[in-house]
Amino acid sequence: MVKGKFGRFWTHAVERLFDLDKITFEDILIRESVIGDIMDFAQENHPKEFVAFFHGIIRKKQLIIDALVYNEFSASENSAAPIFHFADKSFYGSVHSHPGPSNRPSRADISFFHKTGIIHAIICRPYTRESVRFYTQNGEPVTIKTIP
Ligand SMILES: [Zn+2]
Repeated sequence: MVKGKFGRFWTHAVERLFDLDKITFEDILIRESVIGDIMDFAQENHPKEFVAFFHGIIRKKQLIIDALVYNEFSASENSAAPIFHFADKSFYGSVHSHPGPSNRPSRADISFFHKTGIIHAIICRPYTRESVRFYTQNGEPVTIKTIP
C-alpha cells in the first residue's frame, strides 16, 4: 500500500478532467459502508468478477464516495463487461473484483479506468478490507481515507 498525501495530486488531476465544468476538490474520501459493500459484492459474485461504479458528492472541496451503483451484467471468470452510460456526472470511478490473489490492474483495466472516472478500486481474494486497493486513472496505487 502506498501511503502519502495526495491533495495536490488530486487537485491537479481533477482540474484537468473537469476543466469545462469548473468542479474542483482537494481530497477524496470513501464511506465505510461502501468498503463493506465492495467486500459483500465480491464474495457474492465469486468466482465471477463483479463491476460497480462509485457515486460521489462534493462537499467542502472534498469528493466523498458515498455509494456503489451496481448493474446486473454477465461476466465470466476472465472478464467483466458492464453496459453503462455516463450521462450522470455524479459517477467518479469504478470498482471490480479479481477472483485470484492479485489486485493489480491489467492493461485492459487501465484502459477501462480511463473511460470510467478518476478513482478506481480492485478487490482480490480473500475479499477482505486488506485486499481492496485504490488506483488513479493511470493505475497508480493511492490511499483513500475512509469516513463513517
Ligand atoms: Zn481487473
